[in-house]
This record gives sequence, C-alpha cells and structure tokens, in this order.
Amino acid sequence: MIQLQNISKSYGKTLAVEEISLETAPGEIFGFIGPDGAGKTTLFRILTTLLLPDKGSAQVAGFDIIKDYKKIRNSVGYMPGRFSLYQDLSVEENLSFFASIFKTTIEENYDLVKDIYQQIEPFKKRRAGKLSGGMKQKLALSCALIHKPEVLFLDEPTTGVDAVSRKEFWDMLKNLQKKGISIIVSTPYMDEARLCDRIALMQEGKLMRIETPQQICNDYAWPLFAIKSDTFYKMMKDLEKCDELHSVFSFGEYAHISLKKTAHIENVVQYLKQNGHHGIEWTKADANIEDCFMDLMQEGA
Ligand code: ADP
Repeated sequence: MIQLQNISKSYGKTLAVEEISLETAPGEIFGFIGPDGAGKTTLFRILTTLLLPDKGSAQVAGFDIIKDYKKIRNSVGYMPGRFSLYQDLSVEENLSFFASIFKTTIEENYDLVKDIYQQIEPFKKRRAGKLSGGMKQKLALSCALIHKPEVLFLDEPTTGVDAVSRKEFWDMLKNLQKKGISIIVSTPYMDEARLCDRIALMQEGKLMRIETPQQICNDYAWPLFAIKSDTFYKMMKDLEKCDELHSVFSFGEYAHISLKKTAHIENVVQYLKQNGHHGIEWTKADANIEDCFMDLMQEGA
C-alpha cells in the first residue's frame, strides 16, 4: 500500500530520516515504533505530501508522492500528532469543514465514521477546544476519515491519551481495518506494537527491523529473566556491574535481565545475596517488544 525506496531527509545538520526502504500490504495495520526523534513524523509528512524528501522515492496507494501529490491527498487521511482540529469551531463544524475540503458531506460518508462519530455526537455543538483528550481524538479521527480515504496515516494518535481511551482507539482501528482501510500508525508506546500486523522499529532516523511483533519477540536471542529485591535501586546498580549479564533494564517493579550465553541465573541470585540483597524473587520472562527494541539499540550502538 505504501512503498519507499531509500527515502532520506535532513533538517540542516540533523539527518531525520536515513535511507528508509520498505513496503506495506493493503489492509494491513502497519506501525512505526520508536522514541521521540526517531523520524516518524518526518516520514509521515513525506508520505502525506507535506514535505519533500531530499533523496529517494515513494508511492502511496499506487501514486508517486511528487508527481501525483494531488491524487495522494484525496486518497489518504492524515491525523497529525498534534490535533489538527479548529479549536473555536464546534464538533459538527469541524467535521463539516473537513468534508467540504474534499467536496463531500457528512451525510455522504456517514457510514464510515458512524461508529466513532456517534460517541461524540451528543456534544456536536461543543467547541473542539472544550473537549477531553479522548473526545478530541475521536473527532480528529472522524475528520481524517470523512472523505473515505484508502490509507489512513495516524501520527502518535494515542500520545497523551488515557489508558481507556487508548484501548478504545485501537478497537476503532481494528474496525476500520475490517472495512478495508489500510492503516499506517506511529507510536512511542511499545505495548501498542503488538496490536499492529507488522511493525518497523525506528531509532534516530534509521530502520532497525521490520517484522510481525510476534516474530520480533520470537527472535530474541538471550535468556531473559525478571528479577526484583527489597532494594530496587541498589539492585539495579549492582546488576549493572554483574559479569553474568548481557543487559539490564527496569520494567515496573522488576528488572529485566538478559544473561550471557554461558551464565546461570543462580549465579546472579548468589551475586545479589553477596551484595546484601534480601527478598529476591525471579522468574523466567518472555521477551516483549521493549526488550527487543533495547537489544536492537545496543546492537546498533
Ligand atoms: P519523531 O516523530 O519520531 O519524534 P521527528 O520526525 O519529529 O521524529 O524528528 C526527527 C529528527 O528531526 C529529530 O532530531 C528532530 O529534532 C528533527 N526535526 C524534526 N522537525 C524538524 C524541523 N522542522 N527543524 C529541525 N529539525 C527537526
């Protein structure tokens, strides 16, 4: 559905996106996963024809981002990271406005946005600026959909939104996918990665890996454990100095530790006891996307 060939973009000396090549399939929910500054927004702006790349070429829904930019604008919906809504217009006025840009009406494409828009319709006279984060997000999504795009680009749609609204949002995306819309989404939240069909892991403008979330986790190569003790902070400091470990990261109340190939968890526990730790609990852990991301980052460092 989108194809990129060696796309690069710099801002002055900052190389924001470096030689990115990839392809997504029609109907797929494809996620760009990476922390702030990874280059996600730059890539989205290039693909939605708002920014020209310095190098490379790309096609969206079969159209070239430079030659066919007008056709792309009609075929894609874009929900930028910061809300694109007009804060002084009401809910209803925002949606009518976006429909009118594309020479359509709310009524004409109501079916597509109905499930989402109905949730905010009781507030249709309220100014967009007065809506909660979750409601703004639903309105922005309705506005991005009102011209029936083939591809939807959502740039960090759940950033700053509460956990319940985030869950609802992903349910909405799954429903849109069933209606045949291809979805390209970016997020800094690693836990959202597993909700995508495939993901691209990005760091500092580079593509580290493209795969299904499951496969990325399956390919994690190190013995991984979750461990905690009564003195978490000291434990982290001590673990960083432990020879048996390949890596250590904190995950909530546990540390995720990966062991060197020849190491044993019993030796790590012994090491902690020798360093005065009590209440040590450990369990074998399955790698999640964050573990894999950290590992790829270390590899690339
Ligand atoms: P992300 O969306 O993953 O946070 P961005 O594409 O916004 O990443 O940013 C990638 C890099 O480009 C960052 O280092 C950022 O500071 C830089 N950058 C983004 N936009 C601009 C701009 N308009 N001018 C200068 N630097 C920019």
